[in-house]
Amino acid sequence: MIFVLMGAPGAGKGSQADRLVEEEGFFKISTGDALRKHIKSLTDVGKEAAGFVNEGKLVPDETLLKVLKEEIELAQGKPILLDGYPRNVAQAESLEGLNLDLKGVLHLDVDHGELVQRLSGRRVCSNCGATYHSKFKPTKVDGICDRCGGAVILRSDDAPEKVEVRLKVYEDSTKPVLDFYRSKGVLTSLSGEGTEGEISERIKGVIDAKRN
Ligand code: ADP
Repeated sequence: MIFVLMGAPGAGKGSQADRLVEEEGFFKISTGDALRKHIKSLTDVGKEAAGFVNEGKLVPDETLLKVLKEEIELAQGKPILLDGYPRNVAQAESLEGLNLDLKGVLHLDVDHGELVQRLSGRRVCSNCGATYHSKFKPTKVDGICDRCGGAVILRSDDAPEKVEVRLKVYEDSTKPVLDFYRSKGVLTSLSGEGTEGEISERIKGVIDAKRN
């Protein structure tokens, strides 16, 4: 069983996926996290992907499909929550080709101005990937992760000029994926604004209705 979580950069997919892992027993696949791991450990995939990721551009589709397949193996049959894939229509078609049991696609909808504000203040733990926000969700101790004590940093692609590129890539390449799923009748759009708890309840409502 698989659910796809979609939304612009900054829409909150990562935080919401983490909650669903803890509360509903999903296995989360984040292609962004997987790529960052590859980059950190200097694998061939990581070396190929680094430039694209740092510029906020899409990594080539064949590489992503390889990464996705590896991650699916790790799920060992658990229900999957997919965050960050597909990001264009060709990837959506590749995903269909894997014949997974797609139960639904959830789209977290967030206003453009709000996205820019969220991304510009976003900070991440360089060790465990936990996310914070300089204004809305600061760490207890400045620069130190509450969860693991790692260093909390600005992600290189969260620099303002990179954020612009990522939002444009989303408009041009990823928005058509919403239409792709809408035309298949599997898309549910919900508001990604409000508290994390409120948004999580909305998502769980949709998942519970579609899961069986
Ligand atoms: P966000 O959704 O906040 O922009 P992610 O962590 O999901 O961030 O992704 C970070 C970067 O990783 C993207 O900007 C892109 O370079 C790369 N990436 C992640 N998923 C994909 C994908 N499915 N196809 C191509 N590139 C991807």
